[in-house]
Amino acid sequence: MTASLNMTGTFHLPKVEDLSTELEPITVLIVDDDPAFGYLCGRVLEDDKHIKYTVVRAGDYDEAIKVFDPDVIDCALLDFNLPRFDGCQLMQYFHATYPNWFGPVVIITSGGSEEIAVDVMRAGAADYIPKQSIANSSIQRAMANALEKAKLKKAIFERNKALELANDKLARRNNEISRFYHRVSHEIKTPLTAAQMLISMLHEGLVGEISEQQRSIIGQAIESCDELTSLFNDLVECTRMDAGKLRVNRKPGQLDAMVQRAVLAVSPVADARAITIVTAVDDDLPELFVDAGRIVQVLANLLGNAIKFTQPGGRVSVCAQLAAHQSGFVEVCVTDTGMGIDAKDLPRIFDRLYQVNDVGDAVVGAGLGLGLTIASELIQLHGGNITVKSEPGVGSAFTVVLPIGSPIISLSECTSQ
Ligand code: ADP
Repeated sequence: MTASLNMTGTFHLPKVEDLSTELEPITVLIVDDDPAFGYLCGRVLEDDKHIKYTVVRAGDYDEAIKVFDPDVIDCALLDFNLPRFDGCQLMQYFHATYPNWFGPVVIITSGGSEEIAVDVMRAGAADYIPKQSIANSSIQRAMANALEKAKLKKAIFERNKALELANDKLARRNNEISRFYHRVSHEIKTPLTAAQMLISMLHEGLVGEISEQQRSIIGQAIESCDELTSLFNDLVECTRMDAGKLRVNRKPGQLDAMVQRAVLAVSPVADARAITIVTAVDDDLPELFVDAGRIVQVLANLLGNAIKFTQPGGRVSVCAQLAAHQSGFVEVCVTDTGMGIDAKDLPRIFDRLYQVNDVGDAVVGAGLGLGLTIASELIQLHGGNITVKSEPGVGSAFTVVLPIGSPIISLSECTSQ
């Protein structure tokens, strides 16, 4: 009987009752340098009414190695006191040479030495029997128990092997998908960038005069290209994140300048939606040791979401100050007067691909649900964190906390330099 994995991936182990009622013929190797004793052991086993044994005999270590065939021998009964190498060493030879052989080994110890008994069990024996108990049924019981235990052990080994294989397959598939995303995103970005440049030339009148109506239409085309670029950027970042290749390259920088750059990046969208952006950055903030480009990326993402999920005419504010509750840290808070996030969704919005379903019609340009995952990872690479508070119908506040000093450089940073 073997364990099996069905189509749904559920694993079925044989039940112990099933194991014990099986009457498969068992081939047992008996190794003893005393032929009369070896014969006696064989007889006791052959007399077993529940299990049919076929006995293979050997007189010492070398003979045992010669006759041993892992495909034939189901279990072994070894005398501890063999000439040259003892029974324990013989058992260890079997286990080392045939790691996939699960036949139980029972060792016969003479003189009833408890010390030897403990040693043989530690070395991997299924059981031990003092020589004086051989003539009674204890040898049959010990061997039957050992066989059952070995079957379970084999079933568990096979299950683990099946799980390892399934795991490897999943990891390979995951890798393939990541590489595919990365490749597709790159391949699409190149012609997209070319298209963006050409459309911009048209927009700026570099290839001839255009009417106001044409300018407006071309402007919308540029916005669509920007949106596509941003989606592909998220995909590429995500595949980098999966491969552990998301990097930060820290240098001293002013938070004020980073906030201004982020606001500038989202201003066209905010203007188009008639959303006012208000900034308030404390004057006396110390210089930070961060990857300025990455911090701008995170803030632009939070601002972009704030604008996206706020009705036209609403307000988005960015404030930066020393962290109220953590000395040695600064905090940047992006607050909006938008639709807010339901309490049940809050714990999940940093999860990959998570998007709140019921977003109403405030949303322009749906994302992929990757922005916050990437933002959170980038801030963690800086030794900081992002948190959110929100009230449906009132608005949301995302707070980025960053360390001021020069923190310990992370492993990912070292490898990138
Ligand atoms: P997406 O690109 O879809 O916006 P994000 O990871 O940036 O992905 O955000 C995940 C989800 O969190 C969004 O789809 C939205 O449902 C919610 N969310 C994020 N920011 C806000 C916000 N300022 N107001 C309301 N909902 C938000």
